[in-house]
This record gives sequence, structure tokens and C-alpha cells, in this order.
Amino acid sequence: MDFLDFHHHKPSQPGIYNLNLNEEIPQWKFSAGLHPKDITENWKSDFERIKNISQSYNCLAIGECGLDAMIPIDESLQNEIFQHHISWAEDIKKPVIVHCVRRFSQLLHYKRAKVPFIIHGFNKKENVAKELLQAGFFLSFGKAASDHLSLQQIIKDFPVHKMFLESDDTDFDIAELYEKVSAIKSMSLENLKMQMWENLENVINYG
Ligand SMILES: [Zn+2]
Repeated sequence: MDFLDFHHHKPSQPGIYNLNLNEEIPQWKFSAGLHPKDITENWKSDFERIKNISQSYNCLAIGECGLDAMIPIDESLQNEIFQHHISWAEDIKKPVIVHCVRRFSQLLHYKRAKVPFIIHGFNKKENVAKELLQAGFFLSFGKAASDHLSLQQIIKDFPVHKMFLESDDTDFDIAELYEKVSAIKSMSLENLKMQMWENLENVINYG
């Protein structure tokens, strides 16, 4: 069984490929969204294009999109565009892959959305992880989790059916993270792989 890489930037890797802005629809599974760093004055037409592309059967999720306090784009504009993504995801019934930097308290306002939210590249403290879990969010862990003991502790306590593993934009081998997590959670590698694919099925067919 393949290692599911929930959020990555490598064409044809098993998992969800994050489509670049203005890239054509690929043959493999992907997600489409406007990353806050890509917001420009043309965001409306960029978003229209994303709406078209994301209706493709192999587009599994909307995103990454979200809120980022570290980039110089107006906060209310970021909120507005994020809200557009969520409404669209609800319309086409696809989950949302969320990018969030230092805006977790605002993110909690979206807990009543009708579609699953997966926070990608989670790299914060245990209390934030708990709050997000209680609000119904999924967390996807990346490379940082293979080095940071505090993230490993979070993974240990986090329900395996609410998490994903990803390589994001690194060239790190996702198999290493799977091995680490299988040891932390005392699960066989095969069971962990199976669980991650099952989680993917669940967020896609959440209805
Ligand atoms: Zn990414």
C-alpha cells in the first residue's frame, strides 16, 4: 500500500497535490485554492478559475487557503477570500485544506462549516491542538513532527482517525514520518497506512 501524502507539491506523488495558481488540471489527485500569499488585486478572477478547476472529479479538496498573520495582506481581505473558499467548498461538498499562521483563534469561528477542515502543517502547542480537535478540525502533521518532541507528544495523544501526514513543500521522505508515527502510536506501519487512506475516504465522503 502506498504512503498517503496528504498535502504535497510533487507531481504524481500518492496523495493530494497542491495545484499552483494558473497550473492546468493534472492527471493525479489534487486540491485547488488561493494561498493567502498569492492574493493580488486579481483575486476575483483567480478565484473564478479555481471554482472551475475544482469541479474536476480528481480535485479532492479546496485549498490550501486560509489566514496568515505573517504576510502583508490585509486581514479583512484574507477573511473575505477564505469565506469565499468555504462557501464554495460547501456548495460542491469538498473538504477544505487550511493554511493558518497565528490566526487560530479566528479559525475557530469557522467550526460550524458544513465541510471537514484539515489544518495542514500543524506545528503549534498542545492546547491549540486540543481546541481544534474539540471544534471538529482534522490536523495534518509534516516534517517538523519527525524532529520535535512536543509535536510527537501531541501525536501520541491525538486520535489517529482525525489526523494526516504530509511532506508539504519539502523533499523529505514521507516514509520516515510514517515510521516515526507508527512507533509513537504503537501501530503497525500497515495499519497506519490503511488508517490514513480511510481518513481520506472519510473527509471526502463526509456526508
Ligand atoms: Zn503546501
